Amino acid sequence: MRHIAIVGSGPAGYYTAEAAQKLWGDDVCVDVIDKLPVPYGLIRTGVAPDHQSIKGVSRRYEKTALTDNVRFVGNLTIGQDVTVAELRSFYDAVVFATGAPHDRKLGLEGEDLANVFGSAAFVGWYNGHPQFAGLDPDLSGKSAAVIGMGNVALDVARLLSKTECEFEGSDIVSHALVALCGSSIETVTIVGRRGPHQIMMTPKELGELMHLERASPRVDPADLPDVEEDVFLEPGLRKSVTLLREFAAIPESERADKSVEIDFDMFASPVRFIGTEKVEALEVERTKVENGRAVGTGEFYTIPADLVVTCIGYRSSPIPDVPFDERAGKFANTDGRILPGLYCVGWASRGPTGTIGTNRPDGFSVVDRIAEDLAAGTIGGVRSGRAGLDKLIAERELDVVTFRDWKKIEQAEEAAAREGSPREKFVDIEAMIRARG
Ligand code: NAP
Repeated sequence: MRHIAIVGSGPAGYYTAEAAQKLWGDDVCVDVIDKLPVPYGLIRTGVAPDHQSIKGVSRRYEKTALTDNVRFVGNLTIGQDVTVAELRSFYDAVVFATGAPHDRKLGLEGEDLANVFGSAAFVGWYNGHPQFAGLDPDLSGKSAAVIGMGNVALDVARLLSKTECEFEGSDIVSHALVALCGSSIETVTIVGRRGPHQIMMTPKELGELMHLERASPRVDPADLPDVEEDVFLEPGLRKSVTLLREFAAIPESERADKSVEIDFDMFASPVRFIGTEKVEALEVERTKVENGRAVGTGEFYTIPADLVVTCIGYRSSPIPDVPFDERAGKFANTDGRILPGLYCVGWASRGPTGTIGTNRPDGFSVVDRIAEDLAAGTIGGVRSGRAGLDKLIAERELDVVTFRDWKKIEQAEEAAAREGSPREKFVDIEAMIRARG
């Protein structure tokens, strides 16, 4: 019997569990551990609430979770309730699938002003992550700046621009729905330090901006390179750039009945946040792109911003006794191997890139590494597996949450849903635990 502990129950965690099951069948016991009492990580608290079809992938993880040799152990923090050394002594392999839950910082003056948030916090707020549910952003100003040209920036800009009707069918938490419906924001400026050919936004997500009820996107035609240059782009990026060209061509008459503008401000590198206590504006330096890099031109200007959300990428959480690459913000690893018996997968291994689906080959690959190490005898030996963990949990009187408990929490969330919404999420840990009965 192989004993595998996976820390983190998001996509990378469950794809790894699925891969272990495929490889070893009934000869493996997998414990998927999460510090929250609820599973699915980024699917629950990262994917935009109006992208329910993407969230549907959790049904696949549930299939894995409900098999006999995989179990969920929620409300257990590794490195706090149980040490990594203890976990390593019980399992043949411990795999960190802990994602990248912390915001990267710009490191600029004024970044700690009120109403400047990182996307992990802001997205966590509208998705009901217990750590960020109380964020309470002030949406009473007229302008917001969203820094970054990736899909997270698009999510944030879109959510700031939607009407109440457009949230129908989403699982946005009520506190965020109420706040966003009462928002006074009229301009959302998406600030990119490079140009149209360097955006990270994908066409499907970018195209959604064309169909918003009260908002329309605006691109300055002067920012667009000659159309002939688009032929050198890979097809996905070329489609995205074509959409930017369509945004630039929207006639003013079509904008007349829209009350919100999503303004792309490209070739603009953030310099500092301006404000006394609360942010009021963002100072940027005009850039040009040389050899793919943004280079300052010495021209500075300010963008009004009563709210700023930085969407510039994420960092993983270091865990005591686990080597961490501070510069890259992820576990120090080679092909998922950290130390003998210690592995990482997904964003914790490669950084915050790729789609949900990218984690599937990652999960299969880390299981292959574990199998190689077991075969080579560099890991393995007599292990107590989950019996060892259960003994420790009992001794320390830790209140863990099982998958059956989660199903009760889920039922309570579904029962509390407003009309048309799949669920109303619990946003604090005590409420989740109470709901299991
Ligand atoms: P991302 O795609 O890496 O984009 C980060 C953006 O931040 C880039 O435009 C980058 O510009 C900019 N940036 C970084 N450092 C900066 C700085 N110091 N100053 C100014 N700008 C800076 O990251 P993300 O948007 O957080 O997305 C993370 C991953 O999740 C991506 O793989 C994304 O596709 C995925 N995701 C997918 C979906 C979806 O499929 N619906 C939704 C959300 C997220 P440079 O390029 O110039 O560095």
